[in-house]
Amino acid sequence: MASRGSAGGHNIKRTAVVENAWSLDVRQLQRNEFLEDGTWSNFRLARGDSRSVVIAFSFVDENLHLEFQSSDASGRSVDMRTSIEVTRVAKPYGGSQPYFLCPECTNRILILYFCTSGLICRRCANLAYTSTRESKTDAAFRRVRALRLTLGVHDLLSDVPQKPENMRWRAYMRLRLKLGAAEQILWSLLDPR
Ligand SMILES: [Zn+2]
Repeated sequence: MASRGSAGGHNIKRTAVVENAWSLDVRQLQRNEFLEDGTWSNFRLARGDSRSVVIAFSFVDENLHLEFQSSDASGRSVDMRTSIEVTRVAKPYGGSQPYFLCPECTNRILILYFCTSGLICRRCANLAYTSTRESKTDAAFRRVRALRLTLGVHDLLSDVPQKPENMRWRAYMRLRLKLGAAEQILWSLLDPR
């Protein structure tokens, strides 16, 4: 298998799998009271395409030890064993928020993804949220900004000016309609109700 970053195809594959990637959310473990010293049990992890995997774990000395079956690059089933350190940050009104420490970058992270190299954070895994609200909102912002610039407005909030003299009415009206639609999409993403 190609090492990280050495082959474009490898990175593309990583990006493509994000929505179906297995992920582990430290908040969910906490809700299930799995992050108490000496706990050992197992849980079932589901992903987008309705497949699931059973993971055996123990939690000792702020370390989460995981055992599960995965498949290697050729699709063969392999036993995986990995440990993730958990750290806790005190909350201002009492209690604490647990975080995983990403084994690669050691950043405090809420969600880790299962990759062939183990459990790592989204940035390290180079995973992209292809259809999440964030990327949709980014795209909507870009579209609104571009349409407004064409109409001579440099920000997102000021009124759209009257038709510029050198622009045909048809072009102006079409731009206004497109802008209206784009803004509606943007506001619905920013305020989803
Ligand atoms: Zn990381």
